Amino acid sequence: MSSVAGDRWHRRADGVKESRPGHADTPALEVREPQTAGHSKLLREAATCLSKVVPATPPTPADPRPCLIGGRIAGSTCTACGHNAARRHPRCERCLGNTVATDFGPTGVVWSSATVHLRIGELAPPFVLAYIDVDAGPRVLAQVVGGNEVPAGGLVRFTGEENGNLTVKAVGQ
Ligand SMILES: [Zn+2]
Repeated sequence: MSSVAGDRWHRRADGVKESRPGHADTPALEVREPQTAGHSKLLREAATCLSKVVPATPPTPADPRPCLIGGRIAGSTCTACGHNAARRHPRCERCLGNTVATDFGPTGVVWSSATVHLRIGELAPPFVLAYIDVDAGPRVLAQVVGGNEVPAGGLVRFTGEENGNLTVKAVGQ
């Protein structure tokens, strides 16, 4: 859209500005910035505003890995369905019922273990991972310290955490 001022108005010989015949009743046209330019300006302003309130790097997501308190897993038990979770959830992850804090361990039985030959984060190969059925509790993933796989059914004890991962050691080693 462009201005029509040059078409609508003319200046008489005495210097008075008047509208041209046929243009007297023509509504004045607004002269606007082209929409794309206006939108660009709005987008620039929005981006500037957002850059002030949104951090450049997103926050680190919550770490879902279990953690130990006094050598036992800090978990929760649902008062409605009895489900055991390896985290302190305020609501049951299965039925959304109320929960109570429960600590599981300090030992468990190996469900399965395997040696990993790939680097994963800070874990340099080879290392051993195992799923542990915690005494009267949930199944959790842990790193086996000592370097050897533990056969299914083997008893292990939680020894701590390394780089946020639970660690276990075969009982008797
Ligand atoms: Zn439940």
